Amino acid sequence: MKELELGLKKELIIISNSGIYILELYCKERTQITHKKFGAMNFAKGYYYYVGSAQKNLYQRIERHKRKEKNLHWHIDYLTTNNNFKLKRIFTFKSKQKKFECILVSEIENLFNLTYPIKHFGNSDCNSCVSHLLFSKSKIVLERL
Ligand SMILES: [Zn+2]
Repeated sequence: MKELELGLKKELIIISNSGIYILELYCKERTQITHKKFGAMNFAKGYYYYVGSAQKNLYQRIERHKRKEKNLHWHIDYLTTNNNFKLKRIFTFKSKQKKFECILVSEIENLFNLTYPIKHFGNSDCNSCVSHLLFSKSKIVLERL
């Protein structure tokens, strides 16, 4: 009986360790970041929302986003490692499939009138969105979702 319970718990942990997330980053002052694909990117002071997905190892991905020191792999790494950017809040939508990632992008864009600061940023594997990075001058009330 004990073994069965443990087995079940382990399974639940594995199932819930995937999903979609939103990172809320605050940029304290106008910042220029250079990237080989995008060139010189200019970021205004304000809030940035990045929508991503991890179909496995969601927690590990989130922990990686929190670290200031890392190899620059994802587009978003250029922001999370920059000293003018601070990761403020993280929202996770556990067990949500990857297609929900793009739905969430357009939902928050429409709900909060967000803009896309850099086209094709963070969505190399999607053809439907302008970008997976959105901008707002002021903090948005994500609890409304
Ligand atoms: Zn997309």
